[in-house]
Amino acid sequence: MRFALVNNERCEASTGLAAFCPGCSQPMIAKCGTQRVWHWAHRGNRNCDPWWEPETAWHRAWKDQFPAGWQEVIRRDDAGEKHIADVRTENGLVIEFQHSHLPTQERVAREAFHQNLVWVVDGTRLKRDPSRFLEGRTFFRPTLMRSLFTTLFPEECFPFTWLNCDMPVFFDFEGIGTSNEMPKPNRRILWGLLPGRAEGHAAVVAVSRGAFLDAARKRAQIIPSQTIMKMIAVHLRRERVLAELDARSRAYALPPRRARPFRRRRRSRY
Ligand SMILES: [Zn+2]
Repeated sequence: MRFALVNNERCEASTGLAAFCPGCSQPMIAKCGTQRVWHWAHRGNRNCDPWWEPETAWHRAWKDQFPAGWQEVIRRDDAGEKHIADVRTENGLVIEFQHSHLPTQERVAREAFHQNLVWVVDGTRLKRDPSRFLEGRTFFRPTLMRSLFTTLFPEECFPFTWLNCDMPVFFDFEGIGTSNEMPKPNRRILWGLLPGRAEGHAAVVAVSRGAFLDAARKRAQIIPSQTIMKMIAVHLRRERVLAELDARSRAYALPPRRARPFRRRRRSRY
């Protein structure tokens, strides 16, 4: 953890400091080595939050974008279950930065616990992740909104774990591993997979880091996912109906001569 309590004040790890865990009040050890970012650790292998993952420079770089008071916020639910949110903003938005693989069961539990959550995922965890995204992106279809795309094949782009989230997932292709396969401007963009499907299509939004951080600092949502999914569904349904009508009209179209309405023969007077 980044913060522990020294004389009841949140402090970062530093050699020789004695501190206590803000979650479980147990003594913490300052780990100030060269292999990992400086952090506090519980004694032994214990950790008071089973969801906690060892932090990397990538986690810290993201957390640094937010005030210290929004970082490592301990939350308890009605049943007394307790977890630490990587970042919780003053608008109640929780941002979790995930580098390691996340089992589906834990992902679902964390979404249910935090409720208003967005994931920021290291898009470079596996070597193939960036190149798969670049290949899968060829299936993206543009929408009426710039930077918003639909795809029938999100599995061609993103790791399986993140395909069916109830919360938006933003992939950071700068991540830990610098991939040369992806051009730098693309790496600076966060690609967000929105929750749910609209008429079988997944929605993906491209957001600059600046826009993401600005939204995170000011709003309770990065993006109005539900509204966008509804809008896309309406648009796709309309497109489908028009395509069906078009196909039908082609199927029943008669050659021009036969298509002319029959003229009634004038009744002969005699
Ligand atoms: Zn603890």
